[in-house]
Amino acid sequence: MFRHVAVIGAGAAGLVVGHELLREGHTVVVYEKGEQVGGSWIYTSETESDPLGVDPNRYPVHSSLYKSLRVNLPRELMGFQAYPFVARNDEGSVDLRRYPGHEEVLRYLQNFAREFGVDQVVRLHTEVLNVRLVDSNKWKVKSRKKDDVVEEETFDAVVVCNGHFSVPRLAQVPGIDSWPGKQMHSHNYRIPNPFQDQVVILIGHYASGLDIKRDLAGFAKEVHIASRSVADETHEKQPGYDNMWLHSMVERANEDGTVVFRNGRVVSADVIMHCTGYKYNYPFLETNGIVTVDDNRVGPLYKHVFPPVLAPGLSFVGIPQKVIPFPFFELQSKWIAGVLSGRIVLPSQDEMIEDVKAFYSKLEASGKPKRYTHIMDYPQLIEYTDWLAAQCNCQGYEEWRKQMAYSAFKNAFITRPGTYRDEWDDEHLVAEANKDFIKYTSNKSK
Ligand code: FAD
Repeated sequence: MFRHVAVIGAGAAGLVVGHELLREGHTVVVYEKGEQVGGSWIYTSETESDPLGVDPNRYPVHSSLYKSLRVNLPRELMGFQAYPFVARNDEGSVDLRRYPGHEEVLRYLQNFAREFGVDQVVRLHTEVLNVRLVDSNKWKVKSRKKDDVVEEETFDAVVVCNGHFSVPRLAQVPGIDSWPGKQMHSHNYRIPNPFQDQVVILIGHYASGLDIKRDLAGFAKEVHIASRSVADETHEKQPGYDNMWLHSMVERANEDGTVVFRNGRVVSADVIMHCTGYKYNYPFLETNGIVTVDDNRVGPLYKHVFPPVLAPGLSFVGIPQKVIPFPFFELQSKWIAGVLSGRIVLPSQDEMIEDVKAFYSKLEASGKPKRYTHIMDYPQLIEYTDWLAAQCNCQGYEEWRKQMAYSAFKNAFITRPGTYRDEWDDEHLVAEANKDFIKYTSNKSK
């Protein structure tokens, strides 16, 4: 059974979905509002007209990359299973490092799209405006091209891959509305130079916050990091820096420009930068309330992919966070492609609804707030990807990949937080990965 499938977005998720759907024999249109494929990995120096990303009429910018960004996962781990992310001079690698800069990832994704012919089914400059169910099992996709021509096309299924790192979430800080300094979200951070001699407070100490604090330290007068995962009394000078401190959370901001931390410290600051993550956002999706976003829970979704009532016609790739994104998207894509052709059978609607309910109850019982619904820890990630592989009857994460995920996380967050991109001790796993890659790199298009 072959279907006509619309994919929304040509970032890493949309490209690998496109590839897996084509491999399965479906016909595919990948809609992409931008002018090239690669999604988040297309760096731009442009920023939004509202640096906090709140104004609904702001000029939107999709990518959240900063100029200095190097990947935070080793390339062996990061690449698709069917197309390893190896450094290849003959394919125009621009950065051979194990943790390369962002340009190398864009090159890799664009090569992937070309190599597997996915670029042939991408419609660039075409923004999806509306997606809705018609006639109980067909989907209408309304889109607008660059020349403002609006079109509608009917599909058997829609896969949503529009990314979720573009719409900022902000920290709630008492008194912030009358605080006179400049506020922004890391989505609009590009380079450190404009922060020369300023006192900057970063709220949030994960992925972007960890990188941006080091970027800023060479320019700003002082960098103060507010973290919600440390004890209230925390006030620690950061090793290797004489102008950077880690604090507990911000308690309030005052009209006189000062900011008070829970540890009692008071800092007079020029800038507050929210490094506090992003919101899921599906402005084009019309499901009569069947799929909602509530406190960053997209739901109900069976295994983070299929809304039970609309399955298999509607699906989402790439919603979970703290995963190994590209090969994760690849496994979800294989599952969707197989389900759409009827090769893989989903449980009944009732069973899927029960499964989602049980999952939500488990989260609640463990005290996790809704906004953690799609955040996976290491054991959940391995369990989930093994489960997907079993559904698809395909290769799950290889043993070296599982071990490397663990060693890379440990290196980045515990052993060498400041230098993990240049020092590591899992060479034996790199060797195993490279041995494994030979079967793909010597005969890639099969
Ligand atoms: P995106 O790459 O965001 O692609 C979505 C696409 O959908 C875009 O091209 C967009 O233009 C398009 N689109 C959106 N709406 C519409 C519409 N209505 N109509 C048509 N097209 C639309 N991951 C890693 O593996 N390693 C890293 O080191 C890493 N570092 C990161 C650093 C930062 C700062 C951020 C923000 C993310 C990082 N990630 C990293 C995660 C990264 O975002 C994912 O790896 C992956 O690129 C996400 O792919 P995606 O396809 O889901 O979304």
